[in-house]
Amino acid sequence: MKIENTIEDLHQMLNNKEVTVEELVNESLSKSKLVQKECNAFVTIIENPIIKEVNSNLLSGIPYGIKDNYSTKGILSTGSSNTLKDYIPFYTATCIENLEKCGAIAINKTALDEFGMGGTGTTCHTGIVKNPWNKLHMCAGSSAGSAAAVAAGVYPFALGSDTGDSIRKPAAFCGIVGYKPTYGMISRYGLFPFASSLDHCGCLTRSVKDAAIVVDAMKGLDKNDQTSWDSSNIHLYNSIDGQVKGKKLFYIQNIVDLENYTNPSKELKEHINNFYKTLDLLKKDGVEVEGINIDKALLNAIPSVYVCLSCAEATSNMSNLTGIIFGPRGKGENVTDMMIDHRTQGFSPLIKRRFVIGSYILQKENQEKYFVNAQRVRRLIVDKMKELFKTYDGLIMPVSTGPAPLLDNPKDSVSVDDVSVLEEHLQIGNFGGFPSITIPNGFINDLPVGINITGNCYDDINVLNIAYHLESKMPYKGQIAPLKEDNHE
Ligand code: GLN
Repeated sequence: MKIENTIEDLHQMLNNKEVTVEELVNESLSKSKLVQKECNAFVTIIENPIIKEVNSNLLSGIPYGIKDNYSTKGILSTGSSNTLKDYIPFYTATCIENLEKCGAIAINKTALDEFGMGGTGTTCHTGIVKNPWNKLHMCAGSSAGSAAAVAAGVYPFALGSDTGDSIRKPAAFCGIVGYKPTYGMISRYGLFPFASSLDHCGCLTRSVKDAAIVVDAMKGLDKNDQTSWDSSNIHLYNSIDGQVKGKKLFYIQNIVDLENYTNPSKELKEHINNFYKTLDLLKKDGVEVEGINIDKALLNAIPSVYVCLSCAEATSNMSNLTGIIFGPRGKGENVTDMMIDHRTQGFSPLIKRRFVIGSYILQKENQEKYFVNAQRVRRLIVDKMKELFKTYDGLIMPVSTGPAPLLDNPKDSVSVDDVSVLEEHLQIGNFGGFPSITIPNGFINDLPVGINITGNCYDDINVLNIAYHLESKMPYKGQIAPLKEDNHE
């Protein structure tokens, strides 16, 4: 199918009249239906998208998907939660307006872990999202539907959001690219807030250059988001040249080295060896790559700091979900009972657990011990990274401990027991607001795995450049999951 091409290629094809916008939209819609049936990736399929003209803009006439925690005027926007199952916003998120101005065409709204709070794609109010590479496995989350759709070739890009790793982990498990730029580069006005100090907008694509094209279009100063900043002098796509000679990267040796694991599984061994092989590709091209040991106590604190801060901020942000202003009305004789009923019926157990943790942390007598201390440790982690970024151009790491787990064995990624730093280290990118990108790094057990590059704030071009270079050395750019109706079922 033509829609399975990258944005760059589709733009050429549209200009050469090898395909029309109508054809692309029709292909994208019909593929959406297949992916819905096989993977359950969408909350809404937009049946009659407005066809737009092709012009010089790379995104004109290009179909795309929107994670359902972005507000879209006149189109159901649920956050994949029963608390907003009937919510139709009266405004559109700024970054989507920016994409619409470029001529991109929204095809569907993709399913996510409820309000972005999860890492499995199994807590959407519309059900579990399945991995198009193997439907017995998860996509990871929370941008599960976006990842499944881009991997299956529904369109060349979809929007995601990333508070802990929600773009970059599903990208890895679905064999695609996931990029979150520096904090505030893209306005979050219209993104349902989860944990505002950690929330980033971003995208999932099948090539690094496509990710640059999409973020170039989404970004910009917005008076409605005071964390947004003026990046009009930054042109990501045009700045990518793939020059990496002389760059210096580090990886966190005490997370990666197999010596530090008691009884590493065959899978983990293969995964780590695969990572080292990819580092060799960079070294061959003149990149220095060094293993650095970071204080174990600091590393082990990452997941706990994330739990404290994200749950506290989420509890506060989501206190407006009462069923009074929006969402289905709860039953009750008075406002309090109505709100209690709405929240009791509407939220899944996972979210409720997080609100209990968040409320505990925010209690006056606990704030200093948990909330403020977590902020202090966050600062220590960020300072450590900034110190390293003085010497190194970026951090390179495997995204996870291996490929996507089986769906019948999901775990709430925010649990404090049995935590592996190798599964949670991407949260560093949210603590510091650092630009961070995942690209495919091969397969383990026929399932995709990813590699991640994270750089200092405002150093997006450098991060994209390294990723682009690496992508060009490996055969995974643009790969499409071979979704068949009988795929593993
Ligand atoms: N998996 C993490 C969580 O469950 C990250 C979520 C995200 O980035 N939105 O909170």
